[in-house]
Amino acid sequence: MHDVIIIGGGPAGATAAIYAARAKLDTLIIEKAYFGGQMAIATQMDNYPGIDSISGNELGENMINQAKKFGAVAINEEVLDLELDKAVKKVKTSEKVYETRTVILCMGASPRKLGLPNEEMLTGSGVSYCATCDGAFFRDKDVAVVGGGDTAAEDALYLSRFCNKVYLIHRRDTMRASKFLSNLVLENPKIIPVWDSVVQEIIGDIMVTGLRIRNVKTDEISHLDVNGVFIAIGNIPNSELVKGKVELNEGGYIKTDENMKTNIPGVFAAGDIREKPLRQVVTAASDGAVAGQAAEKYLTENNFM
Ligand code: NAP
Repeated sequence: MHDVIIIGGGPAGATAAIYAARAKLDTLIIEKAYFGGQMAIATQMDNYPGIDSISGNELGENMINQAKKFGAVAINEEVLDLELDKAVKKVKTSEKVYETRTVILCMGASPRKLGLPNEEMLTGSGVSYCATCDGAFFRDKDVAVVGGGDTAAEDALYLSRFCNKVYLIHRRDTMRASKFLSNLVLENPKIIPVWDSVVQEIIGDIMVTGLRIRNVKTDEISHLDVNGVFIAIGNIPNSELVKGKVELNEGGYIKTDENMKTNIPGVFAAGDIREKPLRQVVTAASDGAVAGQAAEKYLTENNFM
């Protein structure tokens, strides 16, 4: 029987593990892919306090190693089902069923898809959800970024460093991104905004060759010749596993109080998967710390340790 099982090894999960293990809880952290989560694909992070610049991958590794140093056990397995409503909770993975007194849900979020017919088939062949991972394949090429938020702005700026032209396709005529990033985008001669527009079709048989664009105000259809399209239209929470088991908001994010408690005793949530105003590595880490400590408090108050 574990004191705490943390599901997801991004900054929220790793920080929860640091706090739980440091408090001498028997801590198991389960990650299905790679530790670091979404930040592992960030080539450079310069807004984590106290660290001038670091790759997301390195920061992720540092966090999980720190958790292990305090005694947390980290494993790579996929969680398939959860039983959360009793005092002893069960976590069923691809390998076995683990028992625990508390669970901290840190499964994060994944990129939202446009939902176009060719999108899945051409993913990895010109369609990408990660400019920092795939951008280098498009050196001196024309590409498009879809979206108007901070991610789209950062992607367009990143791609403008080595691509020939970067079209920024946004469904409105103003950016949602912060003023700072929007100004950098609008001042960049390589970035060409395509306002009030949506992608209607991704064209290509083997590789992306172009996009069919519709102006949402005039219904006019146009064509852009591009070799790559980077989709940056926000994220969706990875909360399928807990649908109907813990309370979610209408967007599918887990509802918690300020101590990261869900509506189920002994079940906590931290990071991008929960309803919150700012999804950043620093806020995920903060959530993880609170959740780790809240789990310890729950165990003590219920005489489980
Ligand atoms: P976001 O802020 O939710 O923006 C998503 C963008 O995609 C919006 O412009 C939205 O249009 C558009 N969009 C959504 N669905 C669409 C669809 N089906 N078709 C076309 N366009 C669609 O997402 P994000 O940019 O990934 O940012 C997520 C969070 O991370 C935010 O809190 C952001 O501030 C934060 N972030 C911060 C930084 C940073 O501080 N450096 C960097 C990256 C992300 P509308 O504007 O019309 O809604």
